[in-house]
Amino acid sequence: MSESKVRDIGIKFEGLEPPSKTCDDDECPWHGHLKVRGGLLVGRVIKLRGRKLAVVERDYLVYVSKFKRYERRRSRIHARVPPCISLNLGDNVLIGETRPLAKSVSWVVLGVLKEGGH
Ligand SMILES: [Zn+2]
Repeated sequence: MSESKVRDIGIKFEGLEPPSKTCDDDECPWHGHLKVRGGLLVGRVIKLRGRKLAVVERDYLVYVSKFKRYERRRSRIHARVPPCISLNLGDNVLIGETRPLAKSVSWVVLGVLKEGGH
């Protein structure tokens, strides 16, 4: 299990490293055949449902021209967690958009980002 065969997923992101563990999940972007295309987002893990699903919350700012200010908004995204990535609540994660994996899941966790990525 020490040999890690990760696919080049074509994504370079500061603080992102390929998982040190290996898995044989087909729906893993690193070891399976899951393609990541579309968006990339950074968010915080706020819920873990089972082993395969994380709820990621994202804070973002929207400019409101009427008040010339930014409004703070939040969104929650369901993302699949490949078996080779272990998550804890509060982790900052990079998620990538992929094909729909379940009714409400079309994102996958690519990895945990190191501290300081706020
Ligand atoms: Zn994997």
